[in-house]
Amino acid sequence: MTFNFYFDVASIIAFLVLIVMVISTKHIMNSSFKILCHLTVAAFLVPVFDICRADAVTYRFDESVVLVFNMLFFMAHTFVTFYFLMFVMSQVEMTEVRTKVKNALIYTPLAICVILILLMPKFNTIFYYNLEEGFVRGPLYPLVNIVPAGYFIWTLIYTYRKRELLDKSFKKMIILVTAINLITIIVQIFWPNAAIRSFMLSMSAFIMYFFEEHGRAHIEDDTNLVDKDYLIETGLKMVRNEYPFSIILIRIANYDALSDTFGHNNTKALALNIASHVGNQFDLGSCFRISESTIAILNTETEKTDELTNRLYDELSDSWEIEGLDISCDILMTNIEYPGDTEGFENVVALVRYFNNMERSVGGVIDIKELNISEHIRVNLVENAIERGLKNNNFEVYYQPIRDLDKDTFVTAEALVRLTDPELGPISPAEFIPIAENNGTIVAIGDFVLETVCKFVADNDMEKLGLHYIELNLSVIQCLQKDFIENVESIVKKYKIDPKYLCLEVTETASNYSPAVFTKNLEALGERGYSLALDDFGTGYANIERMVTSDFRIVKFDKEMTQYSTSEERLQNVFAKLQNVIHSMDSMVVAEGVETKEQYDYLKKIGCDYIQGYYFSKPVPQEEFVEFIRDNNA
Ligand code: C2E
Ligand code: CA
Ligand code: CA
Repeated sequence: MTFNFYFDVASIIAFLVLIVMVISTKHIMNSSFKILCHLTVAAFLVPVFDICRADAVTYRFDESVVLVFNMLFFMAHTFVTFYFLMFVMSQVEMTEVRTKVKNALIYTPLAICVILILLMPKFNTIFYYNLEEGFVRGPLYPLVNIVPAGYFIWTLIYTYRKRELLDKSFKKMIILVTAINLITIIVQIFWPNAAIRSFMLSMSAFIMYFFEEHGRAHIEDDTNLVDKDYLIETGLKMVRNEYPFSIILIRIANYDALSDTFGHNNTKALALNIASHVGNQFDLGSCFRISESTIAILNTETEKTDELTNRLYDELSDSWEIEGLDISCDILMTNIEYPGDTEGFENVVALVRYFNNMERSVGGVIDIKELNISEHIRVNLVENAIERGLKNNNFEVYYQPIRDLDKDTFVTAEALVRLTDPELGPISPAEFIPIAENNGTIVAIGDFVLETVCKFVADNDMEKLGLHYIELNLSVIQCLQKDFIENVESIVKKYKIDPKYLCLEVTETASNYSPAVFTKNLEALGERGYSLALDDFGTGYANIERMVTSDFRIVKFDKEMTQYSTSEERLQNVFAKLQNVIHSMDSMVVAEGVETKEQYDYLKKIGCDYIQGYYFSKPVPQEEFVEFIRDNNA
């Protein structure tokens, strides 16, 4: 009995610590946290009733007292595992929308167990006690193990089935808790005196609580607002459960102007005041901080959305007293109804973002449908596709052969990245590269392309194929990274290839970047043996200046320039003359976008160096490219 007792005391102490921790921090009382609280209480009662049961025996209480504690002990036990399943389900489902059948299924084993426990005094079904024999196992004793084990196994199966919807660390928690408890149940069956079960339950409760702690949304102390990740989490769950909702958005439209006039601190204080004014009117967990100037409210009473929006607009559009200053702000509001205003939760997120970043500094209530948002939504979808693509290897590198007109063979190729998303299908680099440059993911994409090309060079006998080098596109953003050169070098070294096999194409863009760093990095590449190409010559911006100042082995004439070669005579001349200038600087010319025999003949006639275009081949996957080269260079 002493063995038993120490474990019980340890778990009671652990639970007390846990309960103090729970009470002393702010929590969002959503359904899963409520279930977790129930679970903790039930688990806490297990060792408590165990001790009562043992003491009642030791101090020779009446048989009926022992029996009651015994029953309570088993009850608490069964409830814990039941709550565990409910807790895991609550991460995916909303109890409000669960079907009656499903509920019945979940509750039945629990109900059977409870009935059997209640029948214990009369029928000695499970586990009984009398003064002569002590505790005795009844014929149905295995049920007190089977039902909890069943709930745990159910939880595991459920987790497996919903694995896509559950967080990685959450799944780890489930496996850990289930494993601990299943092992404990097995130990108990074979070694009934090792009463470690209650101790393991308290350990499980700790693990679950810390997981909750870990994954819990951040709650702003002074306003009761929650961060936007929690909005996404809750919204997604509602969408999955087909539960209608609306999001009411509030923004201080003239935030920047106020900041300039009244100072950043006062403006921030104003935003906090407004946020807490709103936050205090709603439950914890339904108001969210989107940015310093924007908050969102998740509203489930959708029929009241417009009324609520207008009421809040009137309330907030007053003037606010901050540090003795009367600040009146322009409140901009809108609401998004789901479903209704848009399809798919990704679009809801895109709308929230759009509203937050919208160029508008005057207040008012706007109808979200009036905003031209389709483009913004597409950008958001493509951003997601890029993220997914990097995670799941949806990117590929295609190669487009480039022909040397003098030698009449293909001496090089341009590597072009491709993205095929399982949801959006193929996305053109012309669309996703600018988006990737904007959000910085171009660096990871660029690394992927460089790795793939290096691997290609390392795996193939370039000389035998008749290839001198491979051209790849380098974004200005990549080029401006602090560790750009080291990064390129580390990838190239990893595959042990000579830099002479790589030619990096750069384009001049008119964005506001630092030309000094750009030029310095290009020079550093040149010194290390990489060759450089100036891409898209003839479009856009100050290419002549760039061409003269940097050492380009190749200048690539853009598709449009190639068109000139077959259009009016005057433009044909321009093409030929420019080519002469480039030759005089010891650079070679690649004409891009050659599609017709006419273009090919003309370019050959005027002595153009290289040709790239659909006339020979579209960009194709690696194997197809190698085959093409073997067939044509033989
Ligand atoms: P770019 O560097 O000017 O690449 C040439 C584009 O012209 C390619 O488009 C190619 O498929 C297309 N093209 C080739 N021959 C013909 C032709 O005969 N007719 C026509 N109409 N088009 C032809 P793509 O692959 O869609 O790439 C678009 C742009 O995306 C590229 O233009 C480049 O700026 C960018 N890009 C592609 N791959 C990468 C990459 O790996 N990294 C970076 N930073 N940008 C890339
Ligand atoms: Ca290019
Ligand atoms: Ca180009």
